[in-house]
Amino acid sequence: MPFTPVTDDLFVLRGPVNIYLLRVHDGYALVDTGFPGSEKKLLQALAELGVAPEDIRHILLTHAHPDHIGSAAAIKRLTGAKVYASAIDAPIIEAGTGFRPGTASPGWRNRAVMAIISRIIRKVPPTLVDHKLHGHDGVPFLNDFTSIPAPGHCAGQLAFLWNRAGGILFAADTTINRGGGMKLTAGNEDIDEARRSLARLAEHSFEIICFGHGPVVTSGGDALWRSVWLHGPEAAPRS
Ligand SMILES: [Zn+2]
Repeated sequence: MPFTPVTDDLFVLRGPVNIYLLRVHDGYALVDTGFPGSEKKLLQALAELGVAPEDIRHILLTHAHPDHIGSAAAIKRLTGAKVYASAIDAPIIEAGTGFRPGTASPGWRNRAVMAIISRIIRKVPPTLVDHKLHGHDGVPFLNDFTSIPAPGHCAGQLAFLWNRAGGILFAADTTINRGGGMKLTAGNEDIDEARRSLARLAEHSFEIICFGHGPVVTSGGDALWRSVWLHGPEAAPRS
């Protein structure tokens, strides 16, 4: 499975968990790393694009779930990249264990997914977090990129906003894009907090939405987001 371009500077490697590749000032950055054991597939896809392992300078982790951080240790070792993640989730990433429990979102499908997920992976190779992000932080390798706290699914979850191409939102697992539309992720540490994060992200402007799971939305992202997460049936109740 090769990387496919989203913009001139952004590529996605689709899989059960998406991995994003960003062209940055000093090389390339990754957003998330997939399940443990994804490094071989990733390096092969990078080689097909003409990107060498040492060109990967930065790894941004959206949150401390095994399907997103699973290959971070291996990729860091193979590339020498520095890891960025939220200070809240860093202890879990650095221990490779201690994932916080979540409860299923409404619906039988979510309950089934959660029952499976909570059983399969309890431990991943630990990874040192070189740079801990605390909230609305920039990064030194991109001057138009910020982290946005988006707790609920995971306490330390960060979305990222790249102010390019009309705005590119990396939505992490705040929502998944499945069956033709955005839905709540299968499970959340705090579902009310998750819905509030979804409503807050609606305040930003973005054309493109990059999900942890599911196909990229390539245009009209913020209008679509508002229609679902401010006005749709699963939106946070208005106070
Ligand atoms: Zn997750």
